[in-house]
Amino acid sequence: MEYKNLWAPWRIKYIQGLNETTECFICHNFSKPQDDDKNLVLWRTSCCIVILNRFPYNNGHLLIAPARHIPDLDQASDEELLQLTKLVRESQKALSLAIKPHGFNVGMNFGRFAGAGLPDHFHIHIVPRWDGDTNFMHVCSDTDVISQSLTELLELLKQMSKEHNLPRL
Ligand SMILES: [Zn+2]
Repeated sequence: MEYKNLWAPWRIKYIQGLNETTECFICHNFSKPQDDDKNLVLWRTSCCIVILNRFPYNNGHLLIAPARHIPDLDQASDEELLQLTKLVRESQKALSLAIKPHGFNVGMNFGRFAGAGLPDHFHIHIVPRWDGDTNFMHVCSDTDVISQSLTELLELLKQMSKEHNLPRL
């Protein structure tokens, strides 16, 4: 079978910034509920947070994380594990309503060498997929265009959440 990669050139800014020492963006976002729209936070629950990935592999790429700054599942409580799993379900539901993907990749990376960009604070990636999306060459790598579409997507997902009472935990 031929192996195809998604093409996401805007991620170069993220990759180039990996070695800069910066505050954990998940903890930062969790501590600032007043900035939820600016930080692209979709949902916050008693112990978890759901954020739109600012450097998406595909349209609608969400990150689900525990509020606590922990590196792996070993340190997660039963309550956190349960909420995280339910939020995977609810995220798929919201994305299906908002942008109708044909499928999803759901996954986790543990450790920098496994591709984790933020290895100290584990998170689950939800990446919507469409038939033929690996063949689509993205040409709009201008940051403003992407920020705009992320803001619009956040609004759409919030609207769907309101209409359908999501997330149901
Ligand atoms: Zn953190």
